[in-house]
Amino acid sequence: MEFVRIIDGHCDTVSLFYMPEKDYDFNKKNNIGHIDLPRLRSSGVKLQFFAFCSESVPSRSGTLHKCLQLVDAYYRTKERCQSDLLTVYNLADLDEAMHGAKTATLLSVEGGETLEGDLAILRILWRLGVRALGLTWNLRNQLATGVGEGTKGEGLTSFGRKVVREMNKMGMLVDLAHINEKGFYDTLDISTVPVVVSHANARAICDHPRNLSDDQLKKLAEHDGVIGLSFCPQFVCHKKADMERLLDHFVHVAEVAGIDHLGIGSDFDGIKQAVEGLEDVSCLPRLIEGLYSRGFSLGEINKISSANFLRVLKQVLPAI
Ligand SMILES: [Zn+2]
Repeated sequence: MEFVRIIDGHCDTVSLFYMPEKDYDFNKKNNIGHIDLPRLRSSGVKLQFFAFCSESVPSRSGTLHKCLQLVDAYYRTKERCQSDLLTVYNLADLDEAMHGAKTATLLSVEGGETLEGDLAILRILWRLGVRALGLTWNLRNQLATGVGEGTKGEGLTSFGRKVVREMNKMGMLVDLAHINEKGFYDTLDISTVPVVVSHANARAICDHPRNLSDDQLKKLAEHDGVIGLSFCPQFVCHKKADMERLLDHFVHVAEVAGIDHLGIGSDFDGIKQAVEGLEDVSCLPRLIEGLYSRGFSLGEINKISSANFLRVLKQVLPAI
């Protein structure tokens, strides 16, 4: 099998960095967790998005405080593997990520409530190296409404619109995983650059509110965006969530949105277990084999595994 370079649009592994009581070391191969540096390397992942999800941190402090604790945990971990880990801040880093020897990360905040209604916090997070923001988690916040609120809830608020414009201006990637449909369409209407849905699947294959309808997939494609397909069993199949069912999502999204608009967004370490056959990041080559078995060509697999995310990042990130 050809060596395939992978970009994974979402994981929650930084929450493991933050829990010193757990016997986990990012630099070593671990028995717990789905991702660490040796396993990323062996699986062909060149760029791993690292989400700071405040929901995953057991602390009574506020959302922003929790996010900053995760940022701190990330950089402390990075100091311990300085020569092996690259953080992507701009296009030059992106180029090094894809062609150099280091494993790269792109820092993302999951949930706009972290901004506490203040654009200054967005700009500070940028200065701390954050290059993507999921506008909502599942609940309503100052920007928009998440899918967990059911059918109620509005689209983007006026603050949400300001955030999207500021992100477009700075070169921060807009992530629409977890947002409700109204907010999804509102954001596509105003974003001047493509957006991503970092971790979700196709609702036509598995009817779950976190998954995208065919209309959403088509609109995402019209705006040149990318959806990273998730390995979360609940989003893959209500019965037997295995590799074949996950591959059904890849085939469907390729048919509906087109081959240029799908990628991988595992949600490793944000889910208790992944679909059968993809138990951790070291199993990713099996997914690549599965894509071959479903008739995708090497060129198409390269688009899915990295080139589509790469295209969007090149349109969004700043040059330096
Ligand atoms: Zn999530």
